[in-house]
Amino acid sequence: MYKIMKKELLAPNIYLMDIHAPRVAKSCYPGQFVIIKIDEKGERIPLTICDYDREAGTVTIVFQTVGFSTKKMAEYEVGESYRDFIGPLGVKSELVEEAAEELAKKKILFVAGGVGTAPVYPQVKWMKEQGYDVDCIIGARNKDLIILEDAMN
Ligand SMILES: Cc1cc2nc3c(=O)[nH]c(=O)nc-3n(C[C@H](O)[C@H](O)[C@H](O)COP(=O)(O)OP(=O)(O)OC[C@H]3O[C@@H](n4cnc5c(N)ncnc54)[C@H](O)[C@@H]3O)c2cc1C
Repeated sequence: MYKIMKKELLAPNIYLMDIHAPRVAKSCYPGQFVIIKIDEKGERIPLTICDYDREAGTVTIVFQTVGFSTKKMAEYEVGESYRDFIGPLGVKSELVEEAAEELAKKKILFVAGGVGTAPVYPQVKWMKEQGYDVDCIIGARNKDLIILEDAMN
């Protein structure tokens, strides 16, 4: 079982959650995703890893409620748990694999839109942690739907 440690409404119908999943947190990288099953009968929901804290053992997900499962996910509160949290899946962002001297030559601009800002954020964070200066443009259907603006700074 994977406990919800934090729940925040970022924008209308867009939630951020920190999930206690130490093994995923220990080995994941920007660009990867997880598959969540809410309960025994739940369908498998793929969600991008938005952030992770290896020490706290938590993985951050950001999801938009669009249908049955994501609406059900949003009904869960801090202290409750999801049944499965499988990952990390998929490949790391190519930026993580690129040689430092190659990255240093580049001027990188990220462009993020709506809930799609969630997969961009860990790459921006990773680049900044490595000491690279990157820019990010965030767009959305309206200003209320812009997420992670402060986190990007
Ligand atoms: C690798 C990967 C990473 C992803 N990462 C993220 C992420 O970080 N954050 C995120 O928010 N999403 C992400 N997604 C998308 C997310 O997985 C889906 O939004 C989620 O699985 C939808 O499940 P659901 O049961 O809530 O919606 P579903 O019920 O499956 O509905 C899906 C779509 O169909 C429409 N629909 C449903 N029922 C009907 C109907 N009866 N008539 C007409 N239309 C209908 C819904 O409006 C919705 O647009 C990712 C997907 C992939 C593949």
